[in-house]
Amino acid sequence: MSKLERLSDRFLRVGRHPFRLCSRSNRDHHDQDDSKVCCCCHTDSPLYSKCWPFIFFFSAITDYPMPLPKDKKPGQHRDWSWLPVIVVSSLVTFVYYGYLDRIVLVLLRKLQRMSQAVIYIVLFNVLFLLFIITYGRAVSQPPGYAEDIKTSGSSNNSSSKTATSQSISPEEPKRSQDLPYSVLGYPRWCESCQLWKPDRAHHCRVCNACVLRMDHHCPWVNGCVGIGNHRFYIQFLIYVTLLATWTFVTSLVAFIQFHGMSTFDSIALAVLIIAGIFTVAVGTFTLSHLWLVLINRTTIENSQFQSWSKDQKSGKTNGKLIQGFTESGKNVFNQGWKSNWIEIMGNNLWLWFGKDTV
Ligand SMILES: [Zn+2]
Ligand SMILES: [Zn+2]
Repeated sequence: MSKLERLSDRFLRVGRHPFRLCSRSNRDHHDQDDSKVCCCCHTDSPLYSKCWPFIFFFSAITDYPMPLPKDKKPGQHRDWSWLPVIVVSSLVTFVYYGYLDRIVLVLLRKLQRMSQAVIYIVLFNVLFLLFIITYGRAVSQPPGYAEDIKTSGSSNNSSSKTATSQSISPEEPKRSQDLPYSVLGYPRWCESCQLWKPDRAHHCRVCNACVLRMDHHCPWVNGCVGIGNHRFYIQFLIYVTLLATWTFVTSLVAFIQFHGMSTFDSIALAVLIIAGIFTVAVGTFTLSHLWLVLINRTTIENSQFQSWSKDQKSGKTNGKLIQGFTESGKNVFNQGWKSNWIEIMGNNLWLWFGKDTV
């Protein structure tokens, strides 16, 4: 295998498991149990070590477990885990100031378009407030940890008994906790957390915890998206997309009205460009997440399903199944788009921001 192939293989392995942080140097431990997966690689090249500040920054911003130079410890970038939140907040503050001061107030002063400016200010502030509320909720609400629902002692329900007899061997007394209720009937054991993972729970190596109905680890909210904050995350995506779209469209209209460059200074232009990039990038991301909500599939399940269907097309699955999917690739958690939406987003629109609608 050439050096280039080895490098691309390494990145593919890491890319397939973005929610797992490197912790071991031996990368042959790849298997289906996500508590044992290893994607750590050391890079001894002096050039690579010199690039460390960039690697560190990239890792801190994206939580992407970049291969580490020799003297750096795995997960060091997590010391800076608030950096992405600070970046988002700074960017948004800049856009807020730039939009209102350099675009809308210019409209008001130069063109005397009072009603247009008032509509711009009111709608922008409403969307901005909704964005702040939902972003705050997505960052502050815990994703829901399997640790919090862990129980100990002997099992006493029928589904647990079935799974117990299949899964626990006498040499593993530590596994004698109650098995969680499982639709799938085969709970998995997490070595790191020392507990049974309920259906759809995954171990996040960045947070070092098993997260219930884990969607993915998101560095931009400095944590995982799981059963506890999934809907706040979706709300945040919806409002950030609406805010970016509104800012972009109105800035573009103003740009045309002001005859472009002659009246738009560099800050106004930066706002237009940032809003445009966010509209396309976050908008696409939001649409794909809304689609996943409607089909009741998490980001992790979706990526597993995508690689499974690719393998199936080329006949490489060897009878292997993904958790939560039947042999024909049907998602067992899919109850129809309406019920899927209610399961994640709640059923009471008046309590859209409340806690207890789910
Ligand atoms: Zn775990
Ligand atoms: Zn996480």
